Amino acid sequence: KQDAPAPAVGIPRPADAQASQAATLDAREISAWFGDRKVLDRVSLTMPAGRVTALIGPSGCGKSTFLRILNRMHEMIPSATLAGEVLIDGEDIYDPSRRITQARRQIGMVFQKPNPFPAMSIYDNVLAGLKMTGVRADRDTKDALVEECLAKAGLWKEVAGRLRQPGGALSGGQQQRLCIARSLAVRPRVLLMDEPCSALDPTSTRRIEQTIAELSSEVTIVIVTHNMQQANRVSDQCAFFLAEQGTPGVIVEHGPTDAMFNDPADPRTADYVNGRF
Ligand code: ADP
Ligand code: MG
Repeated sequence: KQDAPAPAVGIPRPADAQASQAATLDAREISAWFGDRKVLDRVSLTMPAGRVTALIGPSGCGKSTFLRILNRMHEMIPSATLAGEVLIDGEDIYDPSRRITQARRQIGMVFQKPNPFPAMSIYDNVLAGLKMTGVRADRDTKDALVEECLAKAGLWKEVAGRLRQPGGALSGGQQQRLCIARSLAVRPRVLLMDEPCSALDPTSTRRIEQTIAELSSEVTIVIVTHNMQQANRVSDQCAFFLAEQGTPGVIVEHGPTDAMFNDPADPRTADYVNGRF
């Protein structure tokens, strides 16, 4: 956790600037369909505040769909429908009286392929998400926010002298950390990461893992990964998703990461975490 409290900016912070802004995310009985095809069946999972939850399981079992449901991206897909509830610290993110942008701002997302705006400067990339929120800030405030977010993403030391260079000039691993910095600028309470290291080399991967560990006290993290060592290293709890033979995805088992790896209750979990399918 950072020692120095962040400078005040237009984005509201807790009264105590050191207080964690992490929220608990609670998915209840989530089912999802694309057209007539059901791809998730009554999936329930609590993702506790300030913890890292890893979603594991074979391709096609609905992990990305589940993640998109957690920040209301699923509903952007025309054929997609949904049942169930998602609560952030007890409040329904699908409550019709809440604006979709409010849910999005609280729940950031980082994707497999780093997607900074390539021609936009590193500086402006970090601030890009703020425009949506309508917040206006003066230059000093923006400078401080850019430094804070790049530092939290573990990129500040590498880019401090070249903030005006385009985001696309960075290496893949740096671009992914820039995307993390961009998602932090709106002060999310939850950060969703869909295979954030799949496109990166091992050194960049370890660097991102370090960033995840540093961030986890102040933002709740949910990460999809196919890398079992990574799940073991970064997460406090794991949920094992599976879609057997044309059936929709379910959570076979979830629990503390140690137990999932060393003493799983279901033999299918043991097979999966040991690379047997
Ligand atoms: P995972 O991330 O675990 O690999 P996904 O959530 O991407 O799984 O996919 C779950 C299932 O939903 C798969 O069968 C996939 O083909 C299907 N699916 C995903 N996205 C769409 C979409 N936009 N339209 C139709 N089917 C989709
Ligand atoms: Mg996926």
